[in-house]
Amino acid sequence: MQLSERILGLTGGGSDGWDLFNKARQMMADGVDVTELTIGEHDIRTAAPILQEMHRTALQGHTGYASIPGTAALRDAVAARTEALTGVKTRRENVVITPGGQAALFAAHIAVCDPGDTALYVDPYYATYPGTIRGASALPRSVRARAEDAFQPREDDLRAAAEGARSLLVNSPNNPTGVIYSASTWEGIARVCTEADLWLISDEVYDSQVWEGEHISPRALPGMADRTLVVGSMSKSHAMTGSRCGWLIGPEDAIAQLITLSTHTNYGVPGYIQDASSYALGLGPEFEAEIAAPFRRRRALAQDILSAQNTVGLIPSGGAMYLMLDIRATGLSGDDFADKLLDTHHIAVMPGESFGAAASGHVRVAMTIEDAAFADALRMICRFAERLAR
Ligand code: PMP
Repeated sequence: MQLSERILGLTGGGSDGWDLFNKARQMMADGVDVTELTIGEHDIRTAAPILQEMHRTALQGHTGYASIPGTAALRDAVAARTEALTGVKTRRENVVITPGGQAALFAAHIAVCDPGDTALYVDPYYATYPGTIRGASALPRSVRARAEDAFQPREDDLRAAAEGARSLLVNSPNNPTGVIYSASTWEGIARVCTEADLWLISDEVYDSQVWEGEHISPRALPGMADRTLVVGSMSKSHAMTGSRCGWLIGPEDAIAQLITLSTHTNYGVPGYIQDASSYALGLGPEFEAEIAAPFRRRRALAQDILSAQNTVGLIPSGGAMYLMLDIRATGLSGDDFADKLLDTHHIAVMPGESFGAAASGHVRVAMTIEDAAFADALRMICRFAERLAR
């Protein structure tokens, strides 16, 4: 039977960017000791008190269909967190709970794009973005951010791409680059969205991982709250990736329609997961800082190690659990470098090319293993690059 063009075309053909990851996992299955610096997953698990709350509320009976927009307690907690972080007045009616940030990204595009509409996103990008846009029957169009600008997108590039587009998807703190958009980048984005009448979809799932500078939510910029949908998630801030709990924040009328979409797609998020998430948010910013602390520490380690050599460049970044390394001095592509590194030293990093053409000649390192092993792996990567560059 013939399947839809939409589902068959989701990845846009060609590699899905996960070849190296899959090769590393196969090596591990074959018994090779691989140091994995690939996926964005904490090396700790969800904290026991959060799981105990999940257990308690499930035993108490919160196992039936849960409130589809999200429980009042969780929507209020998300609204309060957002208001505290951004200063923008946020009410329960501005929040819909989704099964993770990924579902929120998809729902946001369904909400603002009609079939065939053009949806912009910035390259380098989180691997699912173009497929998510295609899944919503929109046409992905990338705007290239440049390595020489430390991957801050240029206003002129955005403006040139905006002609005829419906939406712009941005992500700061950024996966894969770790870059935090500056105030002037945000002002340019806001100007382009206003001039070209674009919806802005702002993926802020790394908003608790800020090492340097300030996280600005564009919803807080003048005139932007009415055209911005913010994607959030418990995954990264609370080490709850497997719980699949996220949200969208936006204008009340848009959220009302997104709740209708939830009714017709996921039918909400399990009640015990929502209760555990409310509890986790109640632990406050101190808890989020605790979850982020290992990445902050490892970034400092990496800065020391990388500043002691000059073959591998570190893209100046301020957040998220990743580092983007410029390995162009080796003469290799990110794909070839990552492949050789895996074969030679059994260290797995993601080729920049997995995240778009703009990141070619780079590799992304996830700071997701214990400090000493992380430092050893980085030193090894530098020595390997130095040998190649000679
Ligand atoms: N956005 C970005 C930039 C991400 O890196 C991820 C996960 N790696 C997500 C969204 C989705 O996260 P989740 O669905 O777990 O909330």
